[in-house]
Amino acid sequence: MEPEPDTTAGYKWFNYAACKDMSEKLGEDLFFYLGSSLETGSGKYGRRRNQARNYYEAALKICKTCPVRASCLVDCFEHETSNHLRAGVWGGTVPETRNDMSAYQPEVLEAIRPLAELERFKIMKGIKP
Ligand code: SF4
Repeated sequence: MEPEPDTTAGYKWFNYAACKDMSEKLGEDLFFYLGSSLETGSGKYGRRRNQARNYYEAALKICKTCPVRASCLVDCFEHETSNHLRAGVWGGTVPETRNDMSAYQPEVLEAIRPLAELERFKIMKGIKP
C-alpha cells in the first residue's frame, strides 16, 4: 500500500523564503514597512510611503532570488481578503501591482498555481525548492 501523501506543505514554504528572518537581520521590515493600516490610510503618511517605496524596491530584489515566490503569491491572492495580506510585498509584487492585476486574478492564479504546487511538492518530498 502506498504511503499517505504528506499534505501539510501549506505554509512550510516560508521556511525556504529568501526573506525569512530578514527583518531581524536588518532591523527593519522591508516587506511590511507601513503595515496594513497605514498602507490603506490617507496622505498624511506620505513621507512614510516614500520611504516604503525605497524599502519595497530593496525587498523586490530579494524576491527575485526567492525559491518559493509562486507559493507566496498564490497564498497572498487566495487570502487577500485579510488586510494583512493586502499590504506589503508578496511574491515579488507590491500592493499597487496586485491591485492592477486583480481584474485578472483567476488567470494569474491559473498561471502560477502549477509553479506553487511544484514548490510544495518538492518541500513535501524533502527536496529543496
Ligand atoms: S517571494 Fe518575496 S515576500 Fe514572498 S517569501 Fe519570497 S522573498 Fe518573501
